[in-house]
Amino acid sequence: MWITMKPALFFVALLAGAVFIEQPALAQSGKYSGVISDGHGHFKGRNANPDGTIAAMDRNNIDKVVIWVKQQGGWKDKDTLAFHAKYPDRVVSGVAFQQKGWSKQRSEFLREVRQKAASGKFKWLGEVSVRGKIGGKLHSPPDSPRLRQVLDIAAESGLPVTFHHNPYRRHAKSFERTGEYETFIEATLAYGTDATIVWAHWCGLSNPEEARMLLKRFANLHCDLAWLHNPQDSVPNSLIGDENRFLPAWKALIEEFPDRFIVGVDSSATPSHLMEYDSWVDKIRTALGGLRPKTARLVATENFHRLIGAK
Ligand SMILES: [Zn+2]
Repeated sequence: MWITMKPALFFVALLAGAVFIEQPALAQSGKYSGVISDGHGHFKGRNANPDGTIAAMDRNNIDKVVIWVKQQGGWKDKDTLAFHAKYPDRVVSGVAFQQKGWSKQRSEFLREVRQKAASGKFKWLGEVSVRGKIGGKLHSPPDSPRLRQVLDIAAESGLPVTFHHNPYRRHAKSFERTGEYETFIEATLAYGTDATIVWAHWCGLSNPEEARMLLKRFANLHCDLAWLHNPQDSVPNSLIGDENRFLPAWKALIEEFPDRFIVGVDSSATPSHLMEYDSWVDKIRTALGGLRPKTARLVATENFHRLIGAK
């Protein structure tokens, strides 16, 4: 047994040596190494760990995160404000929409949002769920008057608003059938040209051609890149390739509109998300590393700072 193990161990040692030798090359492999600002963060569930989020940010050179708490676990905007009070330089308080008041479309909910937006305590509205998941539950018709009210509040307060609306199914059948995507663009984006809009998940998991059309037409529109870490065969239009670099057409688009994209980790601070956190940020750094350095800085942090009105 010892005799048969020995070559195996020797082989393992060789492999370990190879990995060790490779490491300096990996460190130089063109990952973006500067500061990142997280334009998409949550707390969800009873085990969500705000302090763990700060520790994860520290490990990953992330200066700030915007937080929109979720209903699950009973998280409320006052918890976000308390988190901000504890870490004023790190936490950007968002008014949360993944709450019953929005999903049940209660009219008093938007009254409260309007007051919060005017209070000066919050810096962002989100994540305004129109259609969840991919082709998932529709919380609000894409041309709903309530969405217009949200855009009014964003325009009045000057706060950016992040939408989550993924109209596509894997093969875009529902889109072809309903034209819903176009409805959302026509009726809602065109209405809200005074609002600063961020459309989550590369503008609703669009492909680069559609995103270009939108970005050209709507100067107030931004795409966040949250879900970059997701397996790319789980989304209708991939953003990154096997090497975790932006696909060429996406890279070209981001370079063409460098001030219109932001990154987001999309952690909910659950134990499992915090365990994955470093690997998700590593993917973001790898993708950003394929951009021109100036573009990478804009997408990584500078656009975010512009949106929250910070220097
Ligand atoms: Zn999210």
